[in-house]
Amino acid sequence: MAASSGVVMPFTDRINRIKPSATLAAVAEGDKLRAQGVDLVYFAAGEPHFNTPQHVKDAAIAAIQANFTKYTAVGGIEELRDAIVKRHAADFGSNYKREEVTASVGGKHALFNLFSVLVNHGDEVIIPVPYWVSFKDMVEYCGGKCVFVESEEKNNFAITLEMLEKAITPRTKILLLNFPNNPSGASLSPDEMTAVVRMAAKRGIWVMSDECYVYLDYSGRLFSAGSIQDAHDRLIVVGSLSKTYSMTGWRLGYAMGPAAVIKEATKLQSQSTSNPTSIVQKAGVGALNGPQQCVADFRAEFKQLRDRIVKGLREIPGITCTMPQGAFYVFPNFSAYFGKGGMKTPADVSRCLLHEAHVVTVPGEAFGSNQHVRLSYATSAAEIDRGLERMRKFFKSL
Ligand code: PLP
Repeated sequence: MAASSGVVMPFTDRINRIKPSATLAAVAEGDKLRAQGVDLVYFAAGEPHFNTPQHVKDAAIAAIQANFTKYTAVGGIEELRDAIVKRHAADFGSNYKREEVTASVGGKHALFNLFSVLVNHGDEVIIPVPYWVSFKDMVEYCGGKCVFVESEEKNNFAITLEMLEKAITPRTKILLLNFPNNPSGASLSPDEMTAVVRMAAKRGIWVMSDECYVYLDYSGRLFSAGSIQDAHDRLIVVGSLSKTYSMTGWRLGYAMGPAAVIKEATKLQSQSTSNPTSIVQKAGVGALNGPQQCVADFRAEFKQLRDRIVKGLREIPGITCTMPQGAFYVFPNFSAYFGKGGMKTPADVSRCLLHEAHVVTVPGEAFGSNQHVRLSYATSAAEIDRGLERMRKFFKSL
């Protein structure tokens, strides 16, 4: 690869295979305009707008005061791993043991460890589309091949067992599930999820279920693949405290699965980051063992914000928008505007929204779509109204 100076830089093939995160890039582009004094509405961030609950902050402060500031076991202190297992059992009816869980620096880190442990050169990973930006890059970094399965937008971005089964080849190593989904908000019913997980496990395929939005399902049900006991020897659940407890900056996530896989993921972590921050682990214990009302409160508020933004978007002529069942994103289709105002792609729409409407969004290309743009509604109702008003004006002017 040539650097801007024209000098060929000796970087590895694996680092040249991946790109920077599109979500972070969209926010950075917005920040540049904001630094010039432009008043922006941000629909780009992938994080709750709530403060971290007080009892979680108190647990971290107590840890500092108690000088709990040294290295810990690589996969997290026993108290944390027990708290993860206990919370999951109470909320989802699973029965993981301490040696079947390892904590890492966010769910993203857990996913990276797991792909590194499981994906060999040429191994195929089945990924439903649209997908969270980092899956593709992580798999390709590890030398794997992504096999994308298009969901059906007209059915709320549905993915069926048959669609997934068709994508299986002798090289399939992992089926990646992420429901509720970032960016579409699609979810699978417990029956659908169970059928898919059992099918893959029976065929000897690993299922990685990224459940970082598992508590943000607006259908009123809470379901984790981790409760499907008969698939446990092929199933890995990835969880995160980031969205559940509004702790994105603290960086705490985990993986649960067969002890042998967990041991290898922890081995990799022992040679890279070591343990998640000691203080953060204590905050995590505080979050998982403490009062859970904040989780229900966040969910209730997100549901209201979802209804508000979907209604507003659907009122803009030409824009279609499915009703997300979970997470805090909408993924409207802007293709009716292609050909107008010089826009031909989601990246064009996002750019125009940024520079002309002063609304920050993330273009769909990064999620495997050439028609959609992702908007996060993790912001106040007033900001949603302000952003919608700007979008209404912009699209009307075309
Ligand atoms: N998985 C999905 C689908 C996500 O959207 C995110 C963050 O946006 C993550 C994993 C990683 O979250 P974290 O590393 O903060 O736990």
